[in-house]
Amino acid sequence: MTGRAWREPPDGCPMKKLNVILPAVLAAAAIGLMGWLHFHPTAAPEENRVVITVDGKEVKSVPLSRPQTVTVRQGDGIENVIEITHEGARMLSSTCDNQLCVHRGQVTVDNWELRPNQQFIICLPNRVTVELVVKE
Ligand SMILES: [Zn+2]
Repeated sequence: MTGRAWREPPDGCPMKKLNVILPAVLAAAAIGLMGWLHFHPTAAPEENRVVITVDGKEVKSVPLSRPQTVTVRQGDGIENVIEITHEGARMLSSTCDNQLCVHRGQVTVDNWELRPNQQFIICLPNRVTVELVVKE
């Protein structure tokens, strides 16, 4: 404690306005950052979609309205097969040793919030990620 009383700035002082605006800006920035972290690296889309990356680079982006099976081949026999349905996506098969990605099952619009990796299915050995990007 300094013992000094806070002196209210006189009316019209720019500092008074700043005291109101600054916390609002900080709050907006914090919310923006949370949103960015949540949806990084992919911004919220117009519709629910599945984004597949290899080595962190997007190789395919498929809306759930267009169900299909995507095969990602990286050479040396490395292959991941991703099934995309109206509900979500699953790793149908993978050439990785541990098969963790296959055993993860399906990530859907309804279940992603309850999953350990949330909207991601990750195949670490093959450096493949499948992300369900849910629209806001
Ligand atoms: Zn895998």
